[in-house]
Amino acid sequence: MLRALSLIAAGLMVSSTLAQPFDTATLKHSDALRQHAEQSDAAWQVLESLTTEVGPRLAGTEADARAVAWAKARFEAMGFDAVRLEPVTVPHWERGFADAKVTLPFPQPLVITALGNSVATPEGGIEAGIVRFATLADLQAADPAQVKGKLVFIDHKMERYKDGRGYGPVVKARGIGAVEAAKKGAVGLLLRSVSTSSHRFAHTGVMRYVDDVARIPAAAISPPDADQLTRMLARQDDIQVKLELEAMDKGKSTSYNVIGEIRGASKPEEIVLIGAHLDSWDEGTGALDDGAGVAIVTAAAEHIMALKQRPERTIRVVLYAAEEIGLIGAKAYRDAHQDKLDQHYIAAEADFGAGPIYRLDSRVNETARPAMEALVEQLAPLGVSLGHNQSWGGPDVSVLPPLGVPVAGLNMDGTDYFDYHHTPDDTLDKVKPESLKQSTTVYTLFAWLMANANSELRPIPPTGN
Ligand SMILES: [Zn+2]
Repeated sequence: MLRALSLIAAGLMVSSTLAQPFDTATLKHSDALRQHAEQSDAAWQVLESLTTEVGPRLAGTEADARAVAWAKARFEAMGFDAVRLEPVTVPHWERGFADAKVTLPFPQPLVITALGNSVATPEGGIEAGIVRFATLADLQAADPAQVKGKLVFIDHKMERYKDGRGYGPVVKARGIGAVEAAKKGAVGLLLRSVSTSSHRFAHTGVMRYVDDVARIPAAAISPPDADQLTRMLARQDDIQVKLELEAMDKGKSTSYNVIGEIRGASKPEEIVLIGAHLDSWDEGTGALDDGAGVAIVTAAAEHIMALKQRPERTIRVVLYAAEEIGLIGAKAYRDAHQDKLDQHYIAAEADFGAGPIYRLDSRVNETARPAMEALVEQLAPLGVSLGHNQSWGGPDVSVLPPLGVPVAGLNMDGTDYFDYHHTPDDTLDKVKPESLKQSTTVYTLFAWLMANANSELRPIPPTGN
């Protein structure tokens, strides 16, 4: 009885200290980390190494395997308490040769690229008239007689916004445009690149097929080439285009989620997850997408390990496999850790270029919002404000909130992101070192403060999103 009472008393004392989300020592270390991170070029070193030594790293390819080996070696050299590879079965698709040209009445080449997962054209290519739709919805509403035997051209322009919200309404046509076109008898899809740029690069990205609908080849054309086709169609209806794609389905391959952990001192079973995806498209060197994210979360862990003090919770860095071709690594992680998801304190992913980060959104139980406010107070000197509480956390971690895992979205300025996204132009020179450093500093403080927060983050009810 006495023992029970003293336990209750001890509990009360503990709960009175819970009033403060962060104790003094945690904040002192946070200041030291900020100073350290702001003077470090660790993230740049990681990014320069990955983009130079590995380069493009499409899931399932030999380059992807080299990226995994690179990440494992890097993590081991950094001195994580644990480094693990978790296998992920991924599709292995290769782009091959891609070519398109207007054959009649104004013969000239077009700049195109295959959409990821597309089938090849038949031997010798396809030559057909084109039919233009301003949006996917217009195609869906069209009379099949208009589409049958044609190459469907969807010409939906993407709007530029800091938060990238122009992407969602347009990218749907990339995902299901070929299926919708094929349902009406089209022979192929030409998609205006999902892009905010006016440069002559075609932007790739994943598309998908469904059972029972013919698999037609699908390619993106550069924005200026889309404008060119539109001008031709203004002159006459019958514009013939020849399309040749060599795209290859090479079956399945094994890739890996690469995981590094800093073990927590007092709550090692509780996980603060910071992630990014290791794979990239094959055309650029994946500097912005998502080498920058890899560099940010890797360097954040490196900064925390340089501190003599251990975090209370475990900090887990996850470099996801095969994000680009359908969140394959994300789903594998979710399934492999299914029975431990309730031990994930919070998760966040950097996958929107190099930054800077200007706002933190969250998805936590309402009673934990004061902890988010206290967190953002520490990030405010870096220019970060608090946003809403409906965050999705980033593409790979977005599969976790439906299972109750709290997430944070550390929003990066993406004003220029879709100028380079999924093109040969996504290269190291597009990354601004100062932005990368700011984002890394924010992730460092986020991971440290969340790993040491006194607040309870409780699983939030599934919303089915
Ligand atoms: Zn990405």
